[in-house]
Amino acid sequence: MHDNHCPNCGSRDVIQRMVKDRLRAADPGGHTFEVDLQLPVWNCKACKLCWQGQEAVAAMEAAYQNAVGKSSPSRTARVT
Ligand SMILES: [Zn+2]
Repeated sequence: MHDNHCPNCGSRDVIQRMVKDRLRAADPGGHTFEVDLQLPVWNCKACKLCWQGQEAVAAMEAAYQNAVGKSSPSRTARVT
């Protein structure tokens, strides 16, 4: 998806990069845990804004599902 643009200034001069992040989530049983993951974020060269797009949401959900395991593949991830 290269049709991304900056939500702040509208510039299309944006780059995507990976940052290390830590996700805090709770499994279906209510037990909270943390997951280290690589998160794709967008960076605007015009105004220096940094934001997360749908790719980041997908990456977080994938990391969550991977951490929780295969016990409830149809359950929607609840990221806190
Ligand atoms: Zn911008």
